Amino acid sequence: MNHLKVIIIGAGIGGLTAGLTLRRAGYAIEIYEKTNEIRPAGAGISIWSNGVKVLNSLGLGDEVAKIGGLMDVMEYRSHRNELLNRISLHPVIETVGQRPYPVSRTELQSLLLKAFNNETETVKLNAQCIGIEQDEHRVTAYFADGYQTSGDVLIAADGIHSKLRDYVVGHPVELRYADYVNWNGLIKIQEDLGDKNTWVIYVGEGKRASMMPIGNNRFYYFFGCPMAKGTWVEPEYRQQELKQIFMGWPFPVQRLIERLNPYESNRLEIHDLDPLETWVRGRVALLGDAAHATTPTLGQGGCQAMEDAEILSRFLLTINLGVEYALKRYETERKERTSTLVLKARKRADMIYGKDPELTQKWYEQLKQETERDVTDALCKTILGGPFK
Ligand code: FAD
Repeated sequence: MNHLKVIIIGAGIGGLTAGLTLRRAGYAIEIYEKTNEIRPAGAGISIWSNGVKVLNSLGLGDEVAKIGGLMDVMEYRSHRNELLNRISLHPVIETVGQRPYPVSRTELQSLLLKAFNNETETVKLNAQCIGIEQDEHRVTAYFADGYQTSGDVLIAADGIHSKLRDYVVGHPVELRYADYVNWNGLIKIQEDLGDKNTWVIYVGEGKRASMMPIGNNRFYYFFGCPMAKGTWVEPEYRQQELKQIFMGWPFPVQRLIERLNPYESNRLEIHDLDPLETWVRGRVALLGDAAHATTPTLGQGGCQAMEDAEILSRFLLTINLGVEYALKRYETERKERTSTLVLKARKRADMIYGKDPELTQKWYEQLKQETERDVTDALCKTILGGPFK
């Protein structure tokens, strides 16, 4: 379809990538973001090869490589520092044809924003969408400051706490608490924390602590521990909290806690979303976390938002039976893949965080038996299920 005007609500990974894929398709794009300054939740993010391929297709491959860490090896260790398995990621890179790039979220966000903003189209900040109306020809978005705009299509990329989701689905949708808390941040790579090309994951007692190399000589670190909903700890007490939770864990974990900057750390209760029955209402489609928020145990949430953007633009561009039909095809195409990944990530979260302690214990044993092939085949399967083979 030619000459569409597309309104995008939300300038996160999903909204900005959609802005870029849809502009490439030749459409006029308006992106509205409620905040003044886009502040992503979390310090780092691993863009697996399926996500990187979407960025490559937008001409951003060199830029993302510049901010990405070189992750060559993945290593599991027990909370007693026993090596459980150590896997080279090179077979994955060779099979799928692209490195994954763990990056700083702020740098990824700036990269996407810079790529989108040009002389005629820039993200409109401080623009909170508060409602939508549509008829058979147009869709109109209304904003908190009284502004309104109309277009042919509206993409709701307003994240896990999406307000537009209920409008699309037709009833209120509750998020599901995944029963654990995640702490994360960035720290300079230091030899006594871990190898600079290795993603290390310490597991034990239904908890985990991890460091992943990102660009500019930094680790993206994260911790996870099961916890009841509704806890909060101010930054100044976070090291104390982590010290207690990870007492007796290996020295690199202890040192990490000692050296991290708590004022630049995040503490998040992790939620996900049961697979939705519908993502589309007329000319309005959900995209990214608004459609399929997931626990981060497969590192695929942001990558799936990028895949959504790619498929959405392909369908709008190549299908000639109207916007509503193209959006429905997008929904059908994306629902199965993302639902499978959300449920797989949920199962993995339950296993990592000891929902059934016997299963978690079995998983620790299983990690010792797993061959490189088992792990790399599973990673390749997820990556190659995306739009670029
Ligand atoms: P968001 O990034 O949340 O963006 C939504 C945007 O919409 C925000 O900027 C918000 O301000 C704006 N907005 C909201 N409401 C309105 C409104 N009414 N009007 C205007 N604007 C609005 N994914 C990976 O691929 N790899 C990983 O390694 C990974 N690790 C993760 C670790 C953690 C701890 C967490 C929590 C998530 C992780 N994810 C990861 C998932 C990833 O962060 C998300 O899937 C991704 O950010 C979703 O992007 P999005 O654009 O859909 O939503």
